[in-house]
Amino acid sequence: MVSFRCIHHTILVLVLIIATSAVAQDVTAVRANSIEIAEDVHFLPGLSCNVVVVTGPEGVLIIDNGSSRNREILKEEIAKLVSGPIRIAINTHFHFDHVGANQALGVDGTMIIAHDHARRRMMTEWQIPETLGVSYPVIPPYPDVALPTLTFDRTLTVHFNGHKIEVIHFPNAHSDADVAVFVRDRNVLHTGDLYLSNGFPILDSYNGGTIDGLISALDGLIDLIDENTKVVAGHGPLSNREGLRKYRQMLGVGRDRIATLIKEGKTLEETVEADPLAGLYSQGQSWLPPKLFIWTVYVDLARRR
Ligand SMILES: [Zn+2]
Repeated sequence: MVSFRCIHHTILVLVLIIATSAVAQDVTAVRANSIEIAEDVHFLPGLSCNVVVVTGPEGVLIIDNGSSRNREILKEEIAKLVSGPIRIAINTHFHFDHVGANQALGVDGTMIIAHDHARRRMMTEWQIPETLGVSYPVIPPYPDVALPTLTFDRTLTVHFNGHKIEVIHFPNAHSDADVAVFVRDRNVLHTGDLYLSNGFPILDSYNGGTIDGLISALDGLIDLIDENTKVVAGHGPLSNREGLRKYRQMLGVGRDRIATLIKEGKTLEETVEADPLAGLYSQGQSWLPPKLFIWTVYVDLARRR
């Protein structure tokens, strides 16, 4: 794991991740070998985010689709599983490392499903405000063909290939546009970035993400599934309900320690320095530097005081 000596580095890395996904791209080498985790349900790791592919007589449905530079590998991997069109693509949220193939899919006529806010975020230019002297790139709007064509607010059920696929919005969690996707009859859940099975997350606190919303989303997911559910996180290895429980516990303790430091009047730098995540993970066990979690939770909680 890379260690960061000052907050400027931390912020710069955060921006690279949420604004361009460049770091996510570099950290995760492309290794797209699919694994069938339930009948006709395939887990495709390594395309900058985890992808789930549901196959059947009506065609293919995919949940998330990786970064744009992996779009050809995505199509090749799916073609190895089954021939026929990708009929439906569900976006768990709007971040580049999850929707990068949207444009290629849209050109092919795939129906793209996402939360109302995901489409809205993708239609407009956005930029993280300058912080501590560091400025950030502008994220341009997506072309029309890449935009979700079916959007919803709370829940949506997709009946496809004989499956009942539940798409559920969790407000103000990792961002304000997150959905989890539950293939109920196959007992497979894709959490998007509500859950990272490889360490601490970051909140997109500039696009509606909040730590309390994220924790309540995790509670909702834990209640939704059972001990046999295959849980596909936004990033990281295949997991299960126990993994989700441990993660929720880790984030809850970290959140409370950061909140205490804010109440004591600590600055952002002092809070990072105080190491509020000590003992919650083993060094080297988090894909993203845990300081990013501290920084984004601090921004979220401090503005709500
Ligand atoms: Zn994300």
